Amino acid sequence: MEKQHVCTEDICDIIIPPEGRNEDMMKVNLMDMSLAELSEFVGKAGEKPFRAKQIFQWIYRGAATFDEMTDLSKALRVKLEESAEIKCLEKETVQTSSDGTGKYLFRTHDGNFIESVFMKYKYGNSVCISSQAGCAMGCSFCASGIGGLVRDLTAGEMADQIVSIEKDTGEKISHIVVMGTGEPLNNYDALTKFLDMVHAEEGLNIGLRNITVSTCGIIPAMKRFADDYPQVNLAISLHAPNDKIRNEIMPVSRQYPIDELIAACREHVDKTGRRITFEYALIRGVNDSKEAIMQLANLLRGMICHVNLIPLNDIKESGLRGSSRLRAGEIAEFLEGRGIPCTVRRELGSDIDAACGQLRLNRIEY
Ligand code: SAH
Repeated sequence: MEKQHVCTEDICDIIIPPEGRNEDMMKVNLMDMSLAELSEFVGKAGEKPFRAKQIFQWIYRGAATFDEMTDLSKALRVKLEESAEIKCLEKETVQTSSDGTGKYLFRTHDGNFIESVFMKYKYGNSVCISSQAGCAMGCSFCASGIGGLVRDLTAGEMADQIVSIEKDTGEKISHIVVMGTGEPLNNYDALTKFLDMVHAEEGLNIGLRNITVSTCGIIPAMKRFADDYPQVNLAISLHAPNDKIRNEIMPVSRQYPIDELIAACREHVDKTGRRITFEYALIRGVNDSKEAIMQLANLLRGMICHVNLIPLNDIKESGLRGSSRLRAGEIAEFLEGRGIPCTVRRELGSDIDAACGQLRLNRIEY
């Protein structure tokens, strides 16, 4: 029989994004394909569509080679081997915190490092994933942006953080938070493709309502996201009650002023009918005064929302300090009194620098 090459340049051009290709452009990376793309790929190779489902399921069960896909014929496995690969993240290190939280350092195929955090809650297991290597947003209190943006992650690299952690822990992940390094709404196409991949029944089968995407407030993308994924929870990194304070600590605020941001949040709640979460890192002497908190209460008045107060986690470069837990408790009480539901976040993994804002590319230290 004549040897058949599944991947012609043509197919690659149609369905494989450049970042999904090998350097020599010979093998396509199935990890970066949605089920629809995989079906197209498999169809063009002359195979039945259900094969795509089988392969997709194997990938999400953590198969890294075609040999593991035991319900595919040997001939098909050989054919796949010639034309495709499953390019996975490499696990470099795992640090486990006393509370069971695990911080994973992964290496991408092109030598970048990204971090993800595994957390156990009463309601299930959650993974906090990174959406970019590095971050361009430059928030003054956050370690993840110190080196700037390195590059966007692909959808497959986002999904593989979860697949790899399931494989490593032997635990099923039920919740995802896109709150690691990077600004997910600045990597919109990969983010939404990733959501489809993990939501797919044949993928990780994770409900959209169990997924939270956090943004520092990229307003146009928020509007688009509300239309495209109304069931996904949205969290806003607010951290300040006015432009003066916000401009000082979050440069993005100069582009998207707070009034416009809050208007977009109200619109989001109206459109989706879902509660929005505001993250507010309490920074001593910066955003935790009585006036600031009163202003915050006024800003959020009447909105279906929830405020997550996080006493700032230490980042040695920033020189900023977190408010005390006592102050955080007082603030929570005040906001609750104004009808704003609020919690002081229990920090997981801060002893291994896995808490909010502590993820950084400090590989040298590993
Ligand atoms: N870029 C997105 C996703 C990152 S989420 C966003 O800004 O929402 C990470 C969360 O941790 C954000 O709310 C971020 O503002 C917060 N954070 C960053 N540094 C922190 C720190 N030192 N202490 C507590 N929270 C921090």
